[in-house]
Amino acid sequence: MILNGIIKGCCPKCGEGKIFESKGSIIQFQVPKMNEYCSHCAYRFARESGYFVGAMYVSYGLAILEMLLLFLLIFKFVSLTVLFIALFGLLFLLMFFNFRMSRIIWIHIFHQ
Ligand SMILES: [Zn+2]
Repeated sequence: MILNGIIKGCCPKCGEGKIFESKGSIIQFQVPKMNEYCSHCAYRFARESGYFVGAMYVSYGLAILEMLLLFLLIFKFVSLTVLFIALFGLLFLLMFFNFRMSRIIWIHIFHQ
């Protein structure tokens, strides 16, 4: 249930309303837009001001995991320069994904 809600990006209370209105776009450099309230049950996603500061820790963990996976996949086949470019390229490509997922995970962790 929780994992399903995180993957779908749904409200932790009702599992119906979407947390994010848009996914954002790297090409257009549009930051993902978040809904303030659940459209289905009116659950407030940002519990208080500064609520999502802690989501940075989740984002950090996600980025480390992604970079570690890529590192383990390619480090034997490429030079150090290509490895660094690939790792930071991956971070750039996944920055909006990490932004959304970290907030969604944070909301689901601290839902009562
Ligand atoms: Zn809801």
